[in-house]
Amino acid sequence: MNLPSRKEIIKQVRGEGKKIAAVLPIHYPRALLRAFGFHPIEVWGPPGINTHAQAGHFQEYACAIVRNATSFLSTDPGKQLDCILIPHTCDSLQGMGSIFKDFLSGGKPVLTIYHPRGRGQCQLQFLQKELEDLAERLRPLSDVDPSDADLIAALDIEGQADAAFAQICLNRDKYSVSDRDFFSALRSREFLPAEVFLELAQTLPKAQADRKGIPLLLSGIVPEPMELFDHINDMGGRVVADDLACCGRRVYETYDDANPFRRMARQMMSMPPDPTVGASVEDRCKHLVTKMEKYGARGAVVYNVKFCEPELFYLPLQRKALEKRGWPLLYLETDLEGTIPFQVLNRIQSFLEMLR
Ligand code: SF4
Repeated sequence: MNLPSRKEIIKQVRGEGKKIAAVLPIHYPRALLRAFGFHPIEVWGPPGINTHAQAGHFQEYACAIVRNATSFLSTDPGKQLDCILIPHTCDSLQGMGSIFKDFLSGGKPVLTIYHPRGRGQCQLQFLQKELEDLAERLRPLSDVDPSDADLIAALDIEGQADAAFAQICLNRDKYSVSDRDFFSALRSREFLPAEVFLELAQTLPKAQADRKGIPLLLSGIVPEPMELFDHINDMGGRVVADDLACCGRRVYETYDDANPFRRMARQMMSMPPDPTVGASVEDRCKHLVTKMEKYGARGAVVYNVKFCEPELFYLPLQRKALEKRGWPLLYLETDLEGTIPFQVLNRIQSFLEMLR
């Protein structure tokens, strides 16, 4: 798939006078950054990076997203980004936020945002206030001072891109591309401007795909390195649906609301049940069972980042819920290396042979 690189997009949007915000996983207000003239480039690792220089800042059991991202943001390309936004997704990212603010910012603004755990009126008000506070911290960093109308325009265009993302994400078998191309296209939302993503969504080859292979649901945080999909396909599997933190768990609903901050908060809280926002185990299991049934998956693969506590808390009961219905679950761990270890590939192969 011929996608522009992050480097090309950074050059393009800088040419349009925008600043670049490096954004850590998972949920954050794209529209707010946009209205203040920042373009978000998400940092999910990257895989295969040398982490030795910054390793001393973290415990041995910090996850690879945090270790790799800290190392990447301390390299020359990382240092050129204009600000860093670290959502309080988990304890590891909260720790990373503190370390950057105290030791590694190099004078660069480091912004954080807290997510409410659970859903309800009180949580909605909390998130709305967090977003209003974030806007106040963006204001002095920005060359623009957006009005409510500007915020609503940003919400409209980002909402269109979110809807296009959802349309693709929830209809895997309607696109005649390989699994790797399909997920590369979805994941380009991590760095493409909304308008460019919308164009890509229009041109993604749409035809009822006659795909062979054992249907799988892929869960976990991030499918890195992306060669994972080639291996699954080569071994006789195909991904029919996902529950990845970087893809399926970021299918948001769109709302109308005259108050742009409340609208933003409502959208940000509309994701499917996600461990990092305190979804109940029951809701999570129900969501996975519904997906398995709807897409005809015969097994689930959880491709988790090693030491990711939010995922691990839910895993035993998720496994029980699926296995009770006859769907086996394969749990794998990655340390975001440059290639996938043979042990991991062997386990995928054995799992597929068991399902054959
Ligand atoms: S992989 Fe897990 S522990 Fe690491 S940043 Fe993501 S949610 Fe947090």
